[in-house]
Amino acid sequence: MERILKGLSRFQKRVYPKHRDLFQKLALGQRPEALFITCADSRIDPCMLTQTKPGELFICRVVGNIVPPYPDAIGGVSATIEYAVGVLGVPDVIVCGHTDCGVMKGVLNPEPLEPLTSVTAWLNYAQPARKAAAAQEEALAGPEFLLAVTERNVLEQLSNLGTHPSVAARLEQGDLQLHGWVYDLGEGIVTAYDPDRAEFVPLESPQPKLRAVRHP
Ligand SMILES: [Zn+2]
Repeated sequence: MERILKGLSRFQKRVYPKHRDLFQKLALGQRPEALFITCADSRIDPCMLTQTKPGELFICRVVGNIVPPYPDAIGGVSATIEYAVGVLGVPDVIVCGHTDCGVMKGVLNPEPLEPLTSVTAWLNYAQPARKAAAAQEEALAGPEFLLAVTERNVLEQLSNLGTHPSVAARLEQGDLQLHGWVYDLGEGIVTAYDPDRAEFVPLESPQPKLRAVRHP
């Protein structure tokens, strides 16, 4: 806790004064560019990952980046989605899973988590991902199968998103885009689901164009 309080003090003394204009503008309202739904895992920093500033991402952190289908589990996740999509009108929603996810491991090996009744109940929303990936279980090594379930889980949650009335209405209007990502914690790579290829492909930043080299 001591480190956290020291960090707060450093923010107030050094960081805030440098960005005072931004914070004072943000105090008047927000217009985030996307709703970013990701796991509560401490190793994910959505703003560092996307190099966004305060006010630019509306973030929903929830274990396993799970979005229960509407009207199941009406609560924090559904309210966050409704507010971001229905009130703030974000143009994009990103569901971002990640490698080495404890929840996805729990889906594959639920026994140790059984005493945790809330976690176990929540894991049920990821079971369709395991079922959908089951056909690949024999062909893939352990870590590869975990990744396959992680990817599939992102797709299941994107599909669940579409059952929420605020999301369905905006999809119907054609002014909302949904994106499925998986973040590789160790490598810093993000893959995104490409519906045309029906697979996750690395998201690459545009490469700078090479300047023509003039020979004397
Ligand atoms: Zn996780």
